[in-house]
Amino acid sequence: MIQKPKGTYDIYGDMGKKIRYIEGLFANLVEKYDFEYVATPLFEQSNLFHRSVGDSSDIVRKETYDFKDRGDRDMTLRPEGTAGVVRSYIENKMYGEADLPKKLWYFGSMFRYERPQAGRYREFRQLGVEVLGSPDPMMDAEVISIAVNLYRLLGLKGVKVRINSLGDKESRLAYRDALKEYFSKHLDDLCNDCKERFNNNPLRILDCKVDGNSDIIKNAPKMQDYLNAESVKHYELVKKYLDALDIEYEENPNLVRGLDYYTHTVFEVEASVEGFGSQNVLCGGGRYDLLVETLDGPHTPAVGFAIGIERLITALDYENIQAFEDKHLDIYVMPITEEDKEYSIGLSQALRLSGFSVDIDSLNRSMKSNFKQADRKNARFIMIIGESERNENVLTIKDNHTKKEYKVSIDELIDFLDDMMGECDCEECNHED
Ligand code: AMP
Repeated sequence: MIQKPKGTYDIYGDMGKKIRYIEGLFANLVEKYDFEYVATPLFEQSNLFHRSVGDSSDIVRKETYDFKDRGDRDMTLRPEGTAGVVRSYIENKMYGEADLPKKLWYFGSMFRYERPQAGRYREFRQLGVEVLGSPDPMMDAEVISIAVNLYRLLGLKGVKVRINSLGDKESRLAYRDALKEYFSKHLDDLCNDCKERFNNNPLRILDCKVDGNSDIIKNAPKMQDYLNAESVKHYELVKKYLDALDIEYEENPNLVRGLDYYTHTVFEVEASVEGFGSQNVLCGGGRYDLLVETLDGPHTPAVGFAIGIERLITALDYENIQAFEDKHLDIYVMPITEEDKEYSIGLSQALRLSGFSVDIDSLNRSMKSNFKQADRKNARFIMIIGESERNENVLTIKDNHTKKEYKVSIDELIDFLDDMMGECDCEECNHED
């Protein structure tokens, strides 16, 4: 038997319902913020990620799925969403449109060759937003609020927002120099990965999870001491706006995030429930004012985030939140014999086009097992189609909740169903939770 690739999973059953539900909720939410949908290719030219995510990031160094296409071009399955959206913004000259900032949202698969474990897949899905063209710290706070409000709408309780500022280019460079000087004195005690980070991007050493490094990291210079006046002002305003939005946050001076392109605000939302596991970061994002230029576009300040949907679903499961609506079917159609199928399929189509959900028995089930199937599908009405129904154009309809039976002529069918479909007076529907 051929099995799925390591680190991937199939979406079906409840997982499918949850993903569709959360994506729908997110789409509705971002529309309230006036965002537009964007979709970019699952693969891009490799150097897009080298230049954006950065050669010093773990993602590009160790985790990308790279391949040559048949035209001998270097291609990469996208490991994250921002680079493709920014490429699209530049290539389609969205910066020339009058309605800036461009507010875009996306949902789709990302690919990283990571060691599979709980909460870490090789194909996973992210919901994300990118705002291109506004330098305003108010936008940083609004972007953070979208993630927080998604969690609020879903009813997730144990979430914690962590923020930090990496400052503008000038502040980052000053801090980089300070870190280089500090870590040069501790180079021998750092792990091998960090020795490499020291050369490529010393900021990333702060993100190291290796135990032996923790004291050295704790005593490292703090970004806050190297922020210039402009960067301090930006950061202070972000915090003020978060307060105005009633969003609690924790400042973490060691939060640097895994991608190289961030400036000013960086943030993470964590599932802070005991026992949740180490892969507890549900959302990561920040401001990236220099990325559009790096990719040969015009200067365009920008901010965004990505939410991992698999981890979000694990967190919801953890808090016993169902995150999808119970499925129900409006009408279950039972043709009694082969001869009744032609009439049944035509009627089912007409009902579906009138807005009802309809399923039709295609396994020639017995009457008894058809009733059971209608129950399993949580069908509200059952229509039995036999010879007399066909000849007289009068349908036998059973209300599967009240168990009452009706005879309805075909001309009055839609009106009858419309009237009946709303409120149901059966005991179960009126049961108070
Ligand atoms: P990043 O793009 O690394 O900032 O990640 C943003 C979010 O995507 C994380 O907070 C996770 O929720 C999710 N994520 C990242 N990598 C993985 C992975 N390998 N498997 C599942 N979710 C992931």
